[in-house]
Amino acid sequence: MQELKQKIISHGRALNDQVLLVDSFLNHQVDVRLMAKVGEAFANHFADSGVTRVMTIESSGIAPAMMTALELSVPLVVMKKQNSAITRGDVYTAAVHSFTKQTEYQLSLSAKYVSAQDRVLVIDDFLAMGEAALGALNVISQSGATVVGFGIVIEKSFQRGRDRLLDKGYEVYSLARVKHMTKDHIEFHE
Ligand code: 5GP
Repeated sequence: MQELKQKIISHGRALNDQVLLVDSFLNHQVDVRLMAKVGEAFANHFADSGVTRVMTIESSGIAPAMMTALELSVPLVVMKKQNSAITRGDVYTAAVHSFTKQTEYQLSLSAKYVSAQDRVLVIDDFLAMGEAALGALNVISQSGATVVGFGIVIEKSFQRGRDRLLDKGYEVYSLARVKHMTKDHIEFHE
């Protein structure tokens, strides 16, 4: 998605060759017009997948996921991050390790908002090592629902996430694929 790549180049900041900051349009302040186009791109791509629910992980995935759900006219379900493993009621959970923050959290999804008949599209802001996406896959699979694919706003292709999801047979549709980055240069896959 050309407009997204231009925005990353003009407003993104590579902290080093591993971490990209996009606080000015995605993670802190949100460019809602750009998010509307992101949602449209995901919805068009997965239009024939029979999606019944869009899911994401709080909090940075919410903006793009919400616009996608709006385009597809399906509910958005936000998986929660918790520090403790204590849960109430019928909740599916999985432990996720965050390499970016060097922390571990518990991902949870209430059984009330998913069923075995659901076809779920997972949207997230970044795909890096794939831990968050695999955690989401784990909790959704516990419900018996089908994951139809992953829609990623920014994929860091030099990290393992994409291959880990492809190895499991899932489709990964990323709107910007960063091939390589340094503090003053960001290069994309075409
Ligand atoms: P993974 O689990 O694939 O290693 O990382 C995915 C999650 O970590 C994303 O949901 C995102 O919140 C965060 N993340 C990973 N890499 C970056 C990055 O370069 N920049 C920002 N802002 N977040 C990242």
